[in-house]
Amino acid sequence: MAAALRHIRGNTYYLPGTTNVGVVVNGNQCVIIDTGRDRRYGKQIASILKKEGLKAGGVINTHGHADHYGGNGAFAGVRIYASAIEKTMMENPILEPMFLFSAAPVKELQNPVLMAEASRVDAVITPGKCTIDGIDLEVVALPGHCLGQIGIVTADGVCFCGDAYISARIVDSYGMPFTVDVTLALETLNRLKQSKYACYVPSHSVISSAPAAEIQRNITAMENTLDLILDLLRKKTYSREEIVAYYMAVRKRKQNTLQYALDYSTVSACLTHLHARKKVTHYIKEGKMFWQRED
Ligand SMILES: [Zn+2]
Repeated sequence: MAAALRHIRGNTYYLPGTTNVGVVVNGNQCVIIDTGRDRRYGKQIASILKKEGLKAGGVINTHGHADHYGGNGAFAGVRIYASAIEKTMMENPILEPMFLFSAAPVKELQNPVLMAEASRVDAVITPGKCTIDGIDLEVVALPGHCLGQIGIVTADGVCFCGDAYISARIVDSYGMPFTVDVTLALETLNRLKQSKYACYVPSHSVISSAPAAEIQRNITAMENTLDLILDLLRKKTYSREEIVAYYMAVRKRKQNTLQYALDYSTVSACLTHLHARKKVTHYIKEGKMFWQRED
């Protein structure tokens, strides 16, 4: 993490790091957006704010993934804000691996990538304007990467957009970003691409005043995955398990439980999207869920 705040515009700053952290200032008070992966990361943020003479009056989490709320524990006594769905995830970290495994998860999925220290959430925030600790902000819904993800737009026109899009470099090596709802993710990405904020701060890429090309790379990666699945199903039906295996082979994935669970979820989200568009249909036979083209 950077050793000092970086100025963006007006009263809006950030701390670049493995998770970019937003800091919106009002006098000697500030609101923080996301806190990184663990309590140590949170303590680093707290010590930089102290050096800058700032006191945190609120923490907003864009979503309930471990690397976004894991540092909340370093901000005892500070009000914590999140969307209703992500509040549930943050208060019950077992839900993330349970979500991926569809039941009590095997121990390999109970790891720090998926689970941070549980965090209380003091207040639920919903899309629209709000004032936190005297700081005017706008909350925007950015669902798709997870269901309750929000972005925070400051009065200076800076949009902290969580993991709504990831860096073009990661898209090139990893492919489509982890997504639980492809329909919502595409809507979110297209809306962000057309938006006209002064600056965008994704959590894991560089800040930019013109992110349309990088956002489009995320959209294209999603469309390529949808096409890949449709092409696979052109001649033959396959089970969901086989589609995941094909996807992992094409993407040259490491063969481990975490990667399998992440890809299983993303492929499932693609199948649901294609099913809603009447491109594919499914049936159960011999205890397997098979997928076939509708056309
Ligand atoms: Zn995330």
